[in-house]
Amino acid sequence: MKCRIKSQLKLLSTHLRPPKPYLHPYSAVTSRHGIHTTTPTPEAPDKASYSTSLARYLTEAIEATGPISLAAYMRQCLVSDLGGYYTAERQVGAGDQFGQKGDFITSPEISQVFGELIGIWVVSEWMRQRRSGEKIQIIELGPGRGTLMSDLWRTVLRFKTMADSVEAIYLVEASPSLRGAQKALLCGPETKIREIENGFSCQSKVSPKINIIWYEDFSFIPQDKDRTPYIIAHEFFDALPIHAFTNTDNGWRELLVDASSRKGQFVAKNGVSKLETRSNTPEFALTLANAPTPHSILLPPLSQRYKDLEKLKDATIEISPESLGLMEKISQKIGEAGAGAALIIDYGTSDTVPANSLHGILKHKICSPFSRPGEVDVSADVDFTALAEQAIKASKKVEVHGPVKQSAFLGMLGIKERTEFLICELKKQNNRWGDGNKDKEKALRSGHDRLVGEHAGGMGAIYKALAVVPVRDGRRPVGFGGEVTGDQD
Ligand code: SAH
Repeated sequence: MKCRIKSQLKLLSTHLRPPKPYLHPYSAVTSRHGIHTTTPTPEAPDKASYSTSLARYLTEAIEATGPISLAAYMRQCLVSDLGGYYTAERQVGAGDQFGQKGDFITSPEISQVFGELIGIWVVSEWMRQRRSGEKIQIIELGPGRGTLMSDLWRTVLRFKTMADSVEAIYLVEASPSLRGAQKALLCGPETKIREIENGFSCQSKVSPKINIIWYEDFSFIPQDKDRTPYIIAHEFFDALPIHAFTNTDNGWRELLVDASSRKGQFVAKNGVSKLETRSNTPEFALTLANAPTPHSILLPPLSQRYKDLEKLKDATIEISPESLGLMEKISQKIGEAGAGAALIIDYGTSDTVPANSLHGILKHKICSPFSRPGEVDVSADVDFTALAEQAIKASKKVEVHGPVKQSAFLGMLGIKERTEFLICELKKQNNRWGDGNKDKEKALRSGHDRLVGEHAGGMGAIYKALAVVPVRDGRRPVGFGGEVTGDQD
């Protein structure tokens, strides 16, 4: 029996390996966007104490100095040294944020095909752009367990000329425990991790000549004209802090986070109530600033899209200056190199400005983002148009493609063909060794359905892809309408 791939991606996809043995059907598990689930259920905080040590710290800070911005609150919840969702020390055996035992599931954990296709995307860009003497940087922002990078790297390794040009794999990660998981997967549990300036480094398990290098900030990644950056950000931008504003009779006013202990301070206005009602007893709540804040003065004038909403009384908008700042750096890095690419995949809006999108997830249930800070994952919709605008503003030497729906992106990259190919390989194994791979086949099929499905629970329409590439002759990247071109060797 021969397994064939029918598509223009055959050339690339046939280089990929048969399935790995660890596939799981994750159909009962919710994605980070929270599709599937409904009820808010964090426990009510004990009046005499605090739900978490971070809740206490935030309450005391707010009581001392007044309400804080939503961005400051979100940042503390996610990456505070005092017990942020990603930075808190996890007890031995407590597991991490992902999968059935964690809080949510992400695409690379659902199917190996996801990371492999992103690897194919990177290879297809390299084939089109390759330059002699270049040093390729493979960069991932927020790599989680490292699964996507592991699947991506296995794919890139099939293309020797490209793999031989890779200078290092760079991971931008704020979480010490997830950095540990990434190190175990990519370098092996025994390999020593070394401290380097501003970060850590260790040898790749499968390619000992290549170092895996961790930084907490994108800016630490070295940059010069010979270095070609290929940058992946999957479910990273949704974790970057947002500011929220409501359009009042007096112009844009910022929504701030207040402590419930300061009773009577809340203004229940449109846009505020929606978030508050997601939990019965949140320890924190939004309140409307009664005077302009620096952010309400500086951020809404940034784009015509926000100005257009000034006609709409009580309109609420979310702006993430941190995302815009990062996008600027990404765009400039690609622009200055005149080579490379960035691929951003996340959930969010294609053209509208996100509003009231901040939500919490705990144990696969959507809950208030204002309860149990540090224990609840908080995230917000990504404003893809704002990212695209910022990338173009930041460098004249880049162009932006998308956003396109994940279903279309993965479809064009050949997800169906790749999945069928792997299933065919499994069947071949069954012929040889008996019927032991039924669960893996089921996992591959349900994974495919989950990643591209546009039904409730599917990730195909909610998740979107955006690409930043150097300015070129109008040809689109693969997955955004383009074809595979160039030589692979
Ligand atoms: N991309 C992975 C994980 C997504 S979860 C996947 O798809 O499975 C978000 C990731 O971003 C985690 O690895 C988290 O630790 C990291 N992260 C969140 N905020 C961060 C920040 N401000 N700086 C660096 N890493 C951050």
